[in-house]
Amino acid sequence: MKELKILYLYPDILELYGDFGNIQVLKYRLEKRGFKAIIEPYSIGDTPPNFCDYDLVFAGGGADQEQGILAQDLITYKENIKQAVDNGTFFLLICGAYQLFGKYYKGVEGNKIPGLEIFDYYTEAIADRKKRCIGNIVIEANLNGKQTKIIGFENHGGQTFDIDTPFGSVLFGNGNKFGDTKEGFFLDNVIATYLHGPLLSKNPELTDYIIKYCLDRKYDEDIILEPLDDEFENKCREQLLDRFLTNNK
Ligand code: GLN
Repeated sequence: MKELKILYLYPDILELYGDFGNIQVLKYRLEKRGFKAIIEPYSIGDTPPNFCDYDLVFAGGGADQEQGILAQDLITYKENIKQAVDNGTFFLLICGAYQLFGKYYKGVEGNKIPGLEIFDYYTEAIADRKKRCIGNIVIEANLNGKQTKIIGFENHGGQTFDIDTPFGSVLFGNGNKFGDTKEGFFLDNVIATYLHGPLLSKNPELTDYIIKYCLDRKYDEDIILEPLDDEFENKCREQLLDRFLTNNK
């Protein structure tokens, strides 16, 4: 049975916005097709992982304080993570994790949390707790040449700058900063985004895109994923897209 090894980073710390749901959706859509999902959590104090041993690394979002706590631990893996990125391991990073793969994240208190510096972007929160990008968001992303609407929910004070390769164009909501036209970061095997939701529960096509990338890379095949019955997901998407894009309710 084909399988994917997934490293789930800091599930006990980066879990403020329900991003664990992404792990559940990956597991569901793998197992429905007869693939095995091996999900290994890692947090502070656990045996150090070799990031290169994994097909997919996932990390969710968290508050400034939690980011400050784990940043010192995360940085100890900087070289190994860079190697895994270069080798092609897929990284799915949500919000707080997204921010920490850049140069730094300057929190709402003005404290500068060092990032992994894997990518050149940086993030600074507005020094006013009330000024946060919060709300539903819809972006349009290019997945293997197909323009795909991605639906989510954003909740971040951080404003991210110096993104050359965004995840998508903003159709509704803010994006990388207030009133931005672009959202997230997407480069080959790395998708970093502000979209909670959980992201993958609202976007089955994106989930399958990530699953296919990982399986094709691991087994060196062009694996055709058997279609799943996404009628319910698609009905929800139609409702949401209608609400956010046509009626602008
Ligand atoms: N604490 C960061 C911010 O406020 C990240 C928030 C998050 O992960 N949703 O921008």
